[in-house]
Amino acid sequence: MKLVFATHNQNKLKEIQKLLPPFINLVSLTDLGCSEPIPETADTLKGNAKLKADYVSKTYQLPCFADDTGLLVNALNGAPGVYSARYAGEKNDANANMDKLLTNLKDKDDRSASFKTVIALNLNDETLFFEGSVKGQITKIKNGEKGFGYDPIFKPEGFDKTFAELPLETKNKIGHRGKAFSKLISYLKTKNVTT
Ligand code: IMP
Repeated sequence: MKLVFATHNQNKLKEIQKLLPPFINLVSLTDLGCSEPIPETADTLKGNAKLKADYVSKTYQLPCFADDTGLLVNALNGAPGVYSARYAGEKNDANANMDKLLTNLKDKDDRSASFKTVIALNLNDETLFFEGSVKGQITKIKNGEKGFGYDPIFKPEGFDKTFAELPLETKNKIGHRGKAFSKLISYLKTKNVTT
């Protein structure tokens, strides 16, 4: 079965393909020749994941899954949330995004936050959702070089290091994206779809 992962990132694609049963042939947006921007205009992670999966499924007549992730900070009523990539502007500048968040949290005692990933799977005209999240604290300064996005200022619960200081294997095991993907993979393994 051909299944689209709505990403252009071939590394992400290979990583997930390795975890899937061989009857699933995972293809990326690049493999499909899809270079147009995909709508991401919903105001929730779930809504955006569904928009992306629906758009690709409909346009290319193939089953598809898409993911959307955000950082939800409690003292900021869930911001930056669905706007995490463009918190400090359209450019998706990780340093500017972190600086803005640290400034907005300057006078707040509550620094609790969580990362959340939602995956929408569009299969046989049905949409299924798989979610993963991880709780933690926003640090006062940036620490660590690994990872991306807000990793240098997010310390997961139970650890005294930020995601940017922890090994990738640890982040994948306890993290939002890893949890959501392992639910998706478990589901796909039970599906003996031959379409
Ligand atoms: P996306 O939906 O995976 O593209 O994520 C949207 C934005 O959330 C990214 O541009 C990052 O700013 C942030 N983000 C998503 N996942 C992570 C993560 O694992 N660590 C840090 N930041 C993340």
